[in-house]
Amino acid sequence: MQGVEARLEKVRGLLRDKGIDAILVMQPENRRYLSGFTGSNGVLLISAEDAILITDFRYTEQAQEEAPGFKVTECDQKISETIADVARSLDIRSLGFESDFVTYRQHAALSEKLSFLDFVPYEGIVEGLRMVKDEDELAMIAQACDLGDSAFSHILGVIRPGISELDVAIELEWHMRKKGAEGIAFDVIVASGARSALPHGRASGKKLETGDFVVIDLGARFNGYCGDMTRTIVIGRATDEQRRIYGIVLDAQVAALAAVAPGKKGSEVDAVARDRIAREGYASAFGHGLGHGVGLAVHEEPRLSPSGDVVLGPGMVVSVEPGIYLPELGGVRIEDLVAVTGDGCSVFTHSDKTLIEI
Ligand code: ZN
Ligand code: ZN
Repeated sequence: MQGVEARLEKVRGLLRDKGIDAILVMQPENRRYLSGFTGSNGVLLISAEDAILITDFRYTEQAQEEAPGFKVTECDQKISETIADVARSLDIRSLGFESDFVTYRQHAALSEKLSFLDFVPYEGIVEGLRMVKDEDELAMIAQACDLGDSAFSHILGVIRPGISELDVAIELEWHMRKKGAEGIAFDVIVASGARSALPHGRASGKKLETGDFVVIDLGARFNGYCGDMTRTIVIGRATDEQRRIYGIVLDAQVAALAAVAPGKKGSEVDAVARDRIAREGYASAFGHGLGHGVGLAVHEEPRLSPSGDVVLGPGMVVSVEPGIYLPELGGVRIEDLVAVTGDGCSVFTHSDKTLIEI
């Protein structure tokens, strides 16, 4: 996998800065990012000199193939014992663990076996690197978003009154997979009528009815990387009220897209959309952050939210997804995925944003 050497070098630089000999990486996306290994069980141990991937017999061959930059060690005992053996053989005196991922039970087992070294918590090292995508990663995300666009355009020919949310969701998933997605980034959201006011309404057996807003939030996964896009349509002719709410959300979304730029904090971009929605009197109907980072995980850093303090930089990928959710009328959300560039952003998702009536 391209880029692994460069990523390991960055990790090693951070280890030197923090004065620790090595780190364990167990969180699946972090593990995949640094090694290329996609198996479900494995631990990386990275020091200044060595890069070891400890896994079990099911994955040894796959690990050697996917992670050529790592020495693969097969674990045939408790994982904590193998980690201790490796740490001892490499003369590691201080070893970091992901404090936001390692469980209480794992920590207890590891501390016991690693009592001969300093077992120190760390967080954010790999996530910090993952925030800024390289060209290859941006290309994967673009592919994932193309699959989402393709599925959305396909579904417009399928949607009609009487079809259930679940049938729409399954058709979207089927289309993305058929066109080359390795899977979906998250369960497709299809929420119609009053259910569209649930920001994360799972698709249900409810049938689409004339007059419904339908929020469709989907993402394909391509080589591990996620897409994420939301469009809201109306079944039948939109009422003036629906048209007005949709217009407010679209205006806020377009203004926020124009505000995404390097050097700005996530909170500043969030405020652009939030102020527009508040100005129309719907502040309390937009109860979530404006957006989130997307990469190997569908929700990652940086956040565009009132508390988003990360300063945006080129290569970061964020969603821009304001919404208004009204219990009586339903909800509208419009979401694009963008990459921060040198002077603004480029948009991955291209599906039409004018109000679609079916
Ligand atoms: Zn989404
Ligand atoms: Zn999203």
